[in-house]
Amino acid sequence: MKSHYRAVVIGGGVIGASTLYHLAKMGWNDIVLVEKIEYTSGSTWHAAGLLPLFNMSYSVGKIHKYSVDLYQSLEAETGQQVSFHKTGNLRLARNQERMDEYKRYCGTASTIGVPFQMIGPAEIKKLWPFAKVDDLVGALYHPDDGHVAPVDVTMALLKGARANGAETYSEVEVTSMAQKPNDEWVVSTNKGDITCDVVISCTGNYARETGRMVGLELPVVPVEHQFIVTGPIPELVEYNRSGNPEMAVLRESDSSYYMRQEADGLILGPYEKGAPCWGLDGVPEGFGQELLPPDLERLLPHIIAAGERVPIFETAGIKDHINGPIAYTPDGNPMVGPAWGLRNFWLSEGHSFGITAAGGSG
Ligand SMILES: Cc1cc2nc3c(=O)[nH]c(=O)nc-3n(C[C@H](O)[C@H](O)[C@H](O)COP(=O)(O)OP(=O)(O)OC[C@H]3O[C@@H](n4cnc5c(N)ncnc54)[C@H](O)[C@@H]3O)c2cc1C
Repeated sequence: MKSHYRAVVIGGGVIGASTLYHLAKMGWNDIVLVEKIEYTSGSTWHAAGLLPLFNMSYSVGKIHKYSVDLYQSLEAETGQQVSFHKTGNLRLARNQERMDEYKRYCGTASTIGVPFQMIGPAEIKKLWPFAKVDDLVGALYHPDDGHVAPVDVTMALLKGARANGAETYSEVEVTSMAQKPNDEWVVSTNKGDITCDVVISCTGNYARETGRMVGLELPVVPVEHQFIVTGPIPELVEYNRSGNPEMAVLRESDSSYYMRQEADGLILGPYEKGAPCWGLDGVPEGFGQELLPPDLERLLPHIIAAGERVPIFETAGIKDHINGPIAYTPDGNPMVGPAWGLRNFWLSEGHSFGITAAGGSG
């Protein structure tokens, strides 16, 4: 590692990796990314990898669309697989109000060029033969949606950045930062000081700690998010054995969960109301890549709702239960851009849909 670079990116999750990749592609090759533990060791490694294109905002929708397009080209560019599964995404509507919300969204989707279809229960059944559809009004279907392997996407972005001249180092922790009178930053790390023109902070759950190094109070707190993975389900084993395509990601807004196929099983990811914050006084000393203790009790309303929609889910055994922290801002939107009150210091913090947003925000 050198002692001077044009830019230092802090954080080796998917957001830092994409920031570095895009800077390098724009010709900024005297740049470095530093990661205190191992690349992807923050929220990125345990994400479910979904890439929801649905968003009522034009700008966020464009950011997400860019990511989905980029991830499909990364393997050809870098040689690193990203396991892009273009399964499509089904957003169910149990009532007309929900359908009207989707209709309002259609204007946004058409303007930014995201393909979609409004479909009825019979078409939903064709796309998701295991779902009960008798109480549904319809669904919004995104054929280009799907999921990726978050670790592989991050590694591909880092590889692409390095191929364009960037450097990356793991086990380098930023411990403090100070700005010189000539506006250069001195970034102090456990492996020595780096002087640079520009700093970009992409530190996920550590955003508040990083912000405080430069006098910023960033409104970002980690919040627990859980998902469960079932073991093989006989009906799905048979479905796959018969050569059927992977089913679309299923989202039920009225019960607040997503479900997708994972080989011969299913993943259920509930969006819990009032999910607890974690590490409010800072990420605990020594916390690395660990998961948080799972709490199945909290998920019960979502599990019951999912079982009513997809009866084969009800009978499945739970194989894995993931609970990890995600950085959240009060309005759910990330902070991307120059930091207020500072010169040459940029933020890409507070990403709660970071796998989906990384490409575009980079
Ligand atoms: C269970 C779960 C499921 C999820 N599923 C999805 C999903 O399906 N789709 C989706 O879009 N999003 C999903 N997310 C959210 C997604 O994982 C995050 O939004 C995303 O990973 C954030 O990336 P990041 O790079 O900002 O943060 P992180 O991945 O946390 O990376 C930040 C990095 O900065 C490093 N760092 C911090 N401080 C320093 C320092 N001082 N010096 C050096 N390095 C430092 C950390 O070690 C860390 O590696 C999920 C999250 C969880 C927990």
